[in-house]
Amino acid sequence: MPTPKAKKQKNMRSSGRTAPELIFGNLWNFDPAPETADPKVKATYDLFIDGKWTQAKSKKRFDSINPANEKKIAEIALAGPLDVNLAYLAAGRAQKSWARTPGKERAKYLYRIARLLQDRAREFAVAETLDGGKPIKESRDFDIPMAAAHFFYHAGWADKLQYVAAGKTLEPLGVVGQVIPWNFPLLMLAWKLAPALATGNCVVIKPAETTSITALKFAEILQDAGLPPGVVNIVTGAGETGSAVIAHSLAAKVAFTGSTEVGKKIMRSLAGTDKKMTLELGGKAANIIFEDASLDQAVEGIVNGIFFNQGHVCCAGSRLLVQESVAELVISKLRTRIRMLKVGDPMDKNTDIGAINSLSQLTKIKRLVASGIKEGAKLYQPECVLPKQGYYFRPTLFTGVTQSHRVAREEIFGPVLSVLTFRTVDEAIEKANNTVYGLSAGVWTDKGARILKMAAELKAGVVWANTFNKFDPSSPFGGYKESGFGREGGRQGLLDYANLV
Ligand code: NAD
Ligand code: MN
Repeated sequence: MPTPKAKKQKNMRSSGRTAPELIFGNLWNFDPAPETADPKVKATYDLFIDGKWTQAKSKKRFDSINPANEKKIAEIALAGPLDVNLAYLAAGRAQKSWARTPGKERAKYLYRIARLLQDRAREFAVAETLDGGKPIKESRDFDIPMAAAHFFYHAGWADKLQYVAAGKTLEPLGVVGQVIPWNFPLLMLAWKLAPALATGNCVVIKPAETTSITALKFAEILQDAGLPPGVVNIVTGAGETGSAVIAHSLAAKVAFTGSTEVGKKIMRSLAGTDKKMTLELGGKAANIIFEDASLDQAVEGIVNGIFFNQGHVCCAGSRLLVQESVAELVISKLRTRIRMLKVGDPMDKNTDIGAINSLSQLTKIKRLVASGIKEGAKLYQPECVLPKQGYYFRPTLFTGVTQSHRVAREEIFGPVLSVLTFRTVDEAIEKANNTVYGLSAGVWTDKGARILKMAAELKAGVVWANTFNKFDPSSPFGGYKESGFGREGGRQGLLDYANLV
């Protein structure tokens, strides 16, 4: 029998973000709810080349730390050009027979990988949170299941490549070099590997230096799945290792996800070669709220759009455009909602905002927030107590932002939202498109016709309507302008890993 008090609390929780919470503010106290499963992380990791664990030639290693408490988790091999070369040679040797393997056989490997990942989902979720700082509820409910979903989806394509484009079939490009970022470590690996393998390519992939652990654990899954040696090779290290992966002469294609700055470097370095390229780069997405939108729903979408994964999301809705007539109301609802966010230990199941991925990212966020204050935007941060150890940043709201402010133009890649206003549909479109980026956008309105108009006018790879940050392996994702080119996911994503013949 629940006590009257417990019953009252339960009712309040189930009533959503309505009156009681408005009154109680952040007075809700949650007991700690730590995730305790063993992430099974080894103390040291070597490179995964030709199906075997291989020491780096230089024998050098670097540390991966837990950004939630700055403690060292593991030592990871630092791959140099010689190691990257070995990885490419292994991929080159494996490639012909992998390409000749019938699609339905390749599909079996992909299904097996997906299932093995599901079997170990909890362990991988804990490892992802430990190494990268994202809330456990996100690695558990988003990163790992989505990674498995990408392998399932592409397993389905592997024996149907003659149906992707009418009258033609897909042939592999050969060996592809892939470099991925730290914000969705295992998920970005899945986005890269699954379509490459389904279409018969072999891979050399480099995870980001702060988050290599789930990629290395994934090598165990490849071994358990019996994937032929050399089909996937995993090399670890920072930018220099990345450049070696991009530059190798055996790479028929390079696929990069990361910053626009590095993307530009890569484009320059590959100009004049016949390597194919896809680049998934930064963003500064507009999340546009019209006065006729369901505002409470929109506030949830705004919060999800910018505070999901600490705002370390290339398609984050970091520029909020609100119609002037409802701006005051939306901002006040938003402040109330932001006060409810639980910031702290990412391993706690109640945490909404975990640790910033690295000290250098925290420094970048602080620098840009300082510029916002200096340029005259108005800052709001809730009073929350941050852990003493580790890299944390309060959820932050800037109002009174103009289009020329750095916080409206530059990607912050942190939990910082800049609010601008507009009066007309045309003004909303013009402001939303007034950016060098073009990865995503959100539109909140009651009118279907307006959604269609906005989707047509916004120069963004993805336009979400009355929702935000929705992903599916069958839905292509990618950018316009300085957000990059090429698509990942869906039919379009397969075409970027194959020749049509
Ligand atoms: P980054 O570009 O510095 O690093 C990304 C990856 O590239 C890492 O693995 C890194 O080691 C490697 N790298 C660094 N220098 C390199 C070089 N010269 N040659 C080859 N590889 C190199 O970016 P970051 O700070 O790690 O990641 C954050 C950025 O990534 C943000 O700007 C974000 O928008 C972008 N991002 C984009 C997407 C997308 O899908 N478009 C997804 C996630 C992140
Ligand atoms: Mn780490």
